Amino acid sequence: MRHIIMLLLSASLLLGWGKTGHRVIGKIAEENLSPEANEAITQLLGHTDLGRIGNWADEVKSDPQWDHSHDWHYCTVLEGHDYEGPEAGGRAVQKVIEFTKLLKKGTLGKQDQLDVFRFIVHIVGDLHQPLHVGNGTDRGGNDVKVTWFRDQTNLHRVWDSQMIDHMQYSYTEYAQQIQLGLGEVEKTVMLNADIMQFVNTSRSIHPQVYEIGDGKLSWKYIYKNRELMEDRLLKGGFHLAAILNDIYQ
Ligand SMILES: [Zn+2]
Repeated sequence: MRHIIMLLLSASLLLGWGKTGHRVIGKIAEENLSPEANEAITQLLGHTDLGRIGNWADEVKSDPQWDHSHDWHYCTVLEGHDYEGPEAGGRAVQKVIEFTKLLKKGTLGKQDQLDVFRFIVHIVGDLHQPLHVGNGTDRGGNDVKVTWFRDQTNLHRVWDSQMIDHMQYSYTEYAQQIQLGLGEVEKTVMLNADIMQFVNTSRSIHPQVYEIGDGKLSWKYIYKNRELMEDRLLKGGFHLAAILNDIYQ
């Protein structure tokens, strides 16, 4: 029993953005798909609701069939280093690249296409959660114990869900809020970013993310990080759209 509890605990510690975060990213991506991508995705899913499928890759962690996918949700960039591949820990970058190629090639059967597609949608989102690009020392902030208002938690969870949930928006409201006033130039830049750019940005903002003082996080931490968090969600959505638009040309 104890082992089961430990297993459940460790699985839950490794989730990516919480449900709302993935849905916000999915919604933003969906609104920025090219007509070609829109059509191809409708054929695959029967709809283009990326918010709806964005959390599937976390849900299947409970299915032993997908045990091998547990390290697809993050990558590691050691302090003072550039990204050096999966050896440092986590295969998120490799999987996005590999799955993108597979979908472009167009030889997968329907079920495999669907699985690979759902992983891309999820992993691209995860890579925008700054603590999914870990430093290799604290399991993406899971070992950094903090309090969030009165709750005992850890820094990873604060970024996965607690800060987002604090805003009290539904995911559709949040997707809309985050895109308010966005200019065409800014959109075009985001639609042309490549995967290493967004991995490096997630990692480069760690100094601010880890600025936690005495570890009692509440209003002040939100005040300092809200904009940054919303920027990661926005870019997650646009970068996901860019990858899908590139696959389905
Ligand atoms: Zn994840």
